[in-house]
Amino acid sequence: MQPKIYFIEEHGIDPTIIDPDAKQVMSRLREAGFTAYMVGGSVRDLLTKRTPKDYDISTSARPEQIKQIFQRNCILIGRRFRLAHIRYGHKIFEVSTFRAGDTTESDLIVHDNTWGSPEEDARRRDFTINGLFYDTSNHTIIDYVGGWQDIQKRILRTIGDPWNRFKQDPVRMIRLLKFRARLGFDIAPLSRRALIGCRQEIVKSAPARILEEFFRMLESGAAMSFFVLMSESGLLDLLFPALADLMKQEMGQTIYRYLAAADRIHSKGHLKQPLDRSVLTACLLFPILDKHLSDQKEEILEGSHYADVMKQIAVLFREYIMSSFTHFPRRITATAAFIMTLQQRLTPPGGKRHHRPKILRNKEFHLALTFLKIRALVNEKYLEDYTSWKEYYRQSLKQNDRKHSHSSPNHKRPAQVKRNSGHGSSH
Ligand code: ATP
Ligand code: MG
Repeated sequence: MQPKIYFIEEHGIDPTIIDPDAKQVMSRLREAGFTAYMVGGSVRDLLTKRTPKDYDISTSARPEQIKQIFQRNCILIGRRFRLAHIRYGHKIFEVSTFRAGDTTESDLIVHDNTWGSPEEDARRRDFTINGLFYDTSNHTIIDYVGGWQDIQKRILRTIGDPWNRFKQDPVRMIRLLKFRARLGFDIAPLSRRALIGCRQEIVKSAPARILEEFFRMLESGAAMSFFVLMSESGLLDLLFPALADLMKQEMGQTIYRYLAAADRIHSKGHLKQPLDRSVLTACLLFPILDKHLSDQKEEILEGSHYADVMKQIAVLFREYIMSSFTHFPRRITATAAFIMTLQQRLTPPGGKRHHRPKILRNKEFHLALTFLKIRALVNEKYLEDYTSWKEYYRQSLKQNDRKHSHSSPNHKRPAQVKRNSGHGSSH
């Protein structure tokens, strides 16, 4: 089939905003005699006026040939998808060889390394909006799948029969909701029906891939609407049944507020990196812990309940997360537990708070502070606590710097600041 070609006059993408290093990777592949296009998420992002966060490149060169061109700057990775990572300074570009996927087959795909033509490569992709190529040599968009039209009409549509495509790889259902949440596009009626019909299949997918899509969504600035969609579609019930139940109750509203606060931080765009995954995990569990602790507030005295809180956090992880995902990353569990435990010290229930230097010594203190910021966005009453701790932390970092640059033996401890004294944020 002949693809539709769209020239620069029509698509209007400013070529200067495309990463120059990505362009260079493609021109080196072309100089070596291969075809190379930008593909997938980056083309979609440019057409929807977003800055691509990474550039995926598709080429006719085989992995070994890519390796030969880029030598030490190239590593070949992946078993299911064998692809090349090209290192350019701090950036990494993912370069994959055009491959064919069998779109008539509805069995779960287990390996996916049959090389193919550009057209086959476009057709094995998930949604039409993700199936466009961009040729940086002449600034054209090459469309084999009707992605251009669907972007104009703001429609999400699987490439090929949605029932087959979801059965082949059920993670595509989560991806569909991810793009719905992120772009606000409508889902084509057939794809919508197939999602409801195939949703049970989701449990067959590799847990690590599911978790990766969840984390990416928590980092996306559209986490709240993603969870709403996951809950409405019934996918959340299949993946995290206990959490899904809770999301439908009053507690769900509180959790959504935490997710919305994380979204606000992400969509301001000041961050070099998204919030840490442990902070985002805490957004899901902390509201439950907080409720539990405030229900038994009378029994709690500052300092004496540390072990209880830890125990409670372990229960929450078991009940809401590990029951579905036994291989949930340990670093994230441990750090999220630390962040949540520390909240009691940052805003103790009795209201008596001291800025203790010991707390700051923990190398993950800044994550607990970021989480306090999220709590302050959810509930204004923590704003003063947050500003005061932030300032205290900033001072202590400054003192540390000074200490290290002068190696002064007379390093002063930061002064203690009382909570609600009115001086908390006046440093
Ligand atoms: P993001 O902005 O989250 O990175 P993305 O669309 O770029 O979104 P990636 O996971 O980076 O998602 O995948 C890159 C491209 O690979 C997609 O745009 C799509 O063309 C293709 N792709 C990804 N996952 C699948 C899948 N499960 N089935 C078919 N094609 C896929
Ligand atoms: Mg991508």
